Amino acid sequence: MLRTCDILDEKDKRLHEVSEEVKFPLSKEDKDTINTMIEYLHNSQIEELSNKYNLRPGMGMSAVQLGILKRYYVVVHEYEEGKFKNYILINPKLISNSEEIIYVEEGEGCLSVNRPVEGIVPRYARVTMEAYDMEGKKFKVRGREDLAIVFQHELDHLDGILFVDKIDKKNPYKNKNKYRPI
Ligand code: ZN
Repeated sequence: MLRTCDILDEKDKRLHEVSEEVKFPLSKEDKDTINTMIEYLHNSQIEELSNKYNLRPGMGMSAVQLGILKRYYVVVHEYEEGKFKNYILINPKLISNSEEIIYVEEGEGCLSVNRPVEGIVPRYARVTMEAYDMEGKKFKVRGREDLAIVFQHELDHLDGILFVDKIDKKNPYKNKNKYRPI
């Protein structure tokens, strides 16, 4: 079972590297890793379990956050109170996006960033991703609002970019009024 302490901290160099494309068929290790990541994210969003196992809550996780430099990530999205949908994106690409830009009003978070961060990260309000599933089949998936943000946040991880890198250092709230808070 994955623990919060297994997740790399932002100081780790690997989080700043570009991950490599995944080749199919998927290895047993990668399949196991994906299932472990889903289990963590799911449990972390259920208060009773996150307290019991001391899990920091998260909605998305990329392989690189476990030190695996491969282009895949998982998202566990609570779309309704107590109802979760899992997304597994392997070799994902952002193929279209809205013009509208949003940001998380309370600030974006990351399982690899364990400190308060001031500022906003502009993100597309809606995105369409293209990716491969665990069987190597190509699919498209759309995300809006928080789901769109997490798709983009995780895609950045695969390119070695953390959300803190996207915040303007001199003016962390730059252009805030142009974007819609969520
Ligand atoms: Zn993150």
